[in-house]
Amino acid sequence: MDKILEKAVEEGKKMTALGRTATYIPELGRMDKSYLGVCVCTGDGQYYKYGDADERFTIQSISKVISLAVALERCGFERTFDRVGMEPSGDSFDSLVKLDLTSDYPSNPMINSGAIAIASHLASEVSFEQMLKFTRLLCMDDEITLNERVYHSEMGHISRNKAIAYLLESKGILENSVEESLKFYVRMCSLNVTAASLAGFGLVLASDGVDPATGKRLLHSWVVQIVKTIMLTCGMYDGSGKFAVEVGVPSKSGVGGGILSVVDKRMGIGIFGPSLDEKGNSIAGQHVLRELSAKMKLHMFADNVPEF
Ligand code: GLN
Repeated sequence: MDKILEKAVEEGKKMTALGRTATYIPELGRMDKSYLGVCVCTGDGQYYKYGDADERFTIQSISKVISLAVALERCGFERTFDRVGMEPSGDSFDSLVKLDLTSDYPSNPMINSGAIAIASHLASEVSFEQMLKFTRLLCMDDEITLNERVYHSEMGHISRNKAIAYLLESKGILENSVEESLKFYVRMCSLNVTAASLAGFGLVLASDGVDPATGKRLLHSWVVQIVKTIMLTCGMYDGSGKFAVEVGVPSKSGVGGGILSVVDKRMGIGIFGPSLDEKGNSIAGQHVLRELSAKMKLHMFADNVPEF
């Protein structure tokens, strides 16, 4: 395992020069784009790491997975999918075109419009402190905190998400004010994680919502099933189809450079690589995942699954 991780990251490092950091959030734009790290957490609780796997960065859109899971737990299936769909959008993550022209609700909970709609619901159901506590449990990481600098940086450059939120409000989709909804959404995006925390979270999802260390169930089985399916179809935005063909593992990316991957029944994988492609996905991170998938036969439709 260590050899596979080393090779994938060392090769991936050559690709970090090809992408760019998320400059539309100034604090993220200032990040060093040469970072690259991977962590694999296997069923027996072993963490395998290579590169910058313990470096802290903001979770960004990967928090959409947590918010969706909590919304399903708290509000149930009907209420959650009442105002957000479950189809890939085919558009960029911050698009508002379809929402305005062809649909009355966001395509799915993994794009900004869908996640802001969910955040607006959640803001009436749970406090941010409860969300933070639960995120720590899911990631098996007590050191997750709010990154104030990134939070304020994004709140100061929020025009596009504000436009999305006003559009949602005009369609009667928001349950709280534009300000409250965005505050909740951006705070969730600004949680500081590591590739190792994402790997831990991935393992909980791979284990049907049970923390393998304590045996405690954190999420209902039906919730985990929905979340993993939506990660597979929508988690890498308008790059989800190609990624599913090449890697075949439900994943979710964030513009902080993270990728969370779930190899069902086997392992969680966390990536940190802030150099992004034009779709907002970690460029070298995707390379690492393609490598790991090929070497360890992780694709969900691989025919010969070896033991690790
Ligand atoms: N906070 C970011 C935004 O709303 C998250 C986007 C992402 O990670 N793709 O733009």
